[in-house]
Formats: sequence, structure tokens, C-alpha cells
Amino acid sequence: MTLPANIGACAAFARERLPRVDADLLACEALGLAHSDLFAFGERPVAPARALRLACWVKRRVAGEPVAYILRRRGFWNLDLETTPAALIPRPDTETLVAAALARIDVESRVLDVGTGCGNVALAIAAERPQAVVLATDVDPACVALCRRNAERLALRVETRVADCFDGLGGGFDVVVSNPPYVAARDGHLAQGDLRFEPRLALVGGGEGLDLIARLVREAPVQLRPGGWLCVEHGWDQHEAVAALFHSAGFEQVELKRDLAERPRVTLGATPP
Ligand code: GLN
Repeated sequence: MTLPANIGACAAFARERLPRVDADLLACEALGLAHSDLFAFGERPVAPARALRLACWVKRRVAGEPVAYILRRRGFWNLDLETTPAALIPRPDTETLVAAALARIDVESRVLDVGTGCGNVALAIAAERPQAVVLATDVDPACVALCRRNAERLALRVETRVADCFDGLGGGFDVVVSNPPYVAARDGHLAQGDLRFEPRLALVGGGEGLDLIARLVREAPVQLRPGGWLCVEHGWDQHEAVAALFHSAGFEQVELKRDLAERPRVTLGATPP
């Protein structure tokens, strides 16, 4: 294969093989350009090493690998985060969880993010509430290490710990947030698109998808201070089931938040005062 020799040829190479958004994003990153440069400087020559990098990335994307894993970056809230295949790729839907939690987090709240992955939820909260004490946990040490790297690079104050749900954390939290695995084991989406490349551990929550949410809701009341909040992300069709779990665990003020597409996405509730 002869490598494309200038910016215009690189853009064309990528666009012939991929949808436009992916092609342009990979081309800009591989060539170190702003998007407008693709149009303005088509004739400008490109170093062979950069063209080769683009060709490799295009090949990986054609094979289905998510852009966030190829570039090892994804934007979330107002943060630029490192992403690796150890953790779920941050999704815009999860900004609903951050917004719902922030409305219940005071300046000096003690906040726990269970199953933090790359740290997106905990880090967005820490960015908005710099005085709050934010603890981020995950069962997977690779995720905890990834969250640490993101926290350090962004200079955000988040404690990290390898932990299974609330085990060994000591309780006393004002707000607990979580984007747990909630996809049903037989869900066909697991075999499609980006989900094929994401960790099962972060996606699948048992047969109906509710195993981890049920555990969180069951264990949270004794981990929260009286009047503390639990905020959980879930599937668009799981709100009824999740709200029932909240009620049977004794939560009050149980509420639903919808994502940007108006789908049910987050359920929250408070422990009695
Ligand atoms: N919202 C994700 C999806 O359906 C799943 C995220 C999760 O399980 N926490 O792709």
C-alpha cells in the first residue's frame, strides 16, 4: 500500500474507509491538526510516520475497535480523560448521573463513586466540588490505576481504592453515586458496535441486568448518613424495577432523571432523616 502523501490525500484515505466523523477525528489526531486544517491545507505534505499511524488507526477502526480505545481519550463533562479497554467508554448519558448527584452534593460532602472505571463520574464531581471528599472505587485494579492517572493528570482531588461495592470502606457517606453494569446477559447489543470491545465486567449485571443495582440499593442505607442520597444509572427500561428496589430498601423521595434523549436513566433516593 502506498501511503497518502499530503493532508488532502490522508483525509480522503480515511473517508473512503470510514464514516466522516470517525475519519476526520482519526486524521486530525494522527496528523496533529485542527479540523479546519483538513480543508485549508490539503496540499501540505505529511510525514510518512504520521500517514502510517493514520493507516494503522483506520485499519483498527474498520475492524470495529472504538475510537476512544484507539485514541485512548474521550471527553466527558468538561474533562479530557484517558480511556483504555479496562474500563467502559464514558457516555454522554452518564452526565445525567453527574448532574443529579451534584444537585445533592454540598461544598464539603463525603462522596463515594462505586465502580468508577476510568473515573469519569468521580472526577467530574471533584472538578465541580473541589472541597468535597470524593472516594472512587472499582473491583478491577486496572480501573483504579486508570482513574488515578486521570486524577493526577487533571490535578483533581479524588481518593481511589480497590473495593467490591461497599466492602471495607467504613461508610458515613453523604452521597453515593454509581454507573454499575446493568445490561442483561442476553442483550443483543453486547454483540454489536463498541460494546464488543468493552469489558463485560463493566457492562453485564446478571440475567436481567439488575444484580449489581440490587446489591447497591440493599447495602447503601447503612453506608449513607441519615438523609444521604443514592444516585444510580440504569437502562431506559429499568426505572420501575429500580424504583421498587429503592422503596423496599426504605429510601424516600425516590425520583427519576431522564437523559438527553428523554429516556429514563437515573434513579435517586434519600435515606430517612
Ligand atoms: N449505557 C451502556 C450501554 O447500554 C451500559 C452502561 C452500563 O452498563 N453501565 O451501552
